[in-house]
Amino acid sequence: GNKNINAKLVLLGDVGAGKSSLVLRFVKGQFVEFQESTIGAAFLSQTLAVNDATVKFEIWDTAGQERYHSLAPMYYRGAAAAIIVYDITNQASFERAKKWVQELQAQGNSNMVMALAGNKADLLDARKVPAEASCGAGVGGNFCHGRCLKVWIMYEEAQIYAQENGLFFMETSAKTATNVNEIFCEIAKRLPRV
Ligand code: GDP
Ligand code: MG
Repeated sequence: GNKNINAKLVLLGDVGAGKSSLVLRFVKGQFVEFQESTIGAAFLSQTLAVNDATVKFEIWDTAGQERYHSLAPMYYRGAAAAIIVYDITNQASFERAKKWVQELQAQGNSNMVMALAGNKADLLDARKVPAEASCGAGVGGNFCHGRCLKVWIMYEEAQIYAQENGLFFMETSAKTATNVNEIFCEIAKRLPRV
């Protein structure tokens, strides 16, 4: 028969990675360019039907600031799932994501479903600049428009990291909605059926 599952889900990751934007996209189908920083944490819920079940996600969108770190366990404790978000244009946010993964592995539910979201995938379109305007694109993730400005986290690097650490990985865009429903859907499929 059809099962109803309530699933507490927490979003973790650096400030500015796009946690609130992913939730806003998933729950309300909206995106804003100047999303306000989250204070403490925000709660939203959304229901999703997958093959054999209806999953009600109870979503905790955390702030990400270091000064709120001590509050984080309140949100991930007892969570059935976590989405750890980084910004694909921001190396520090990727490092921060790895820290969250370590913390969850040490302190979270052992059967927690963990997803890694490389957000702002729409910014990859910046790669489509004319060849003469760019230099050093490719291996190692250095990419630039004339001047070398940005280090990108390569899909492959994140994919390997995710595999080694028992997460599943998707590049997402809250802006264009790419893989937003998909990541929640994949979590819903992986939740234990009681
Ligand atoms: P949070 O601190 O992790 O909750 O990040 P926010 O959701 O507040 O987003 C930080 C900034 O990044 C905001 O200005 C958003 O508009 C922007 N942003 C979020 N997601 C995306 C995305 O997928 N693509 C682009 N281009 N910008 C995004
Ligand atoms: Mg936020």
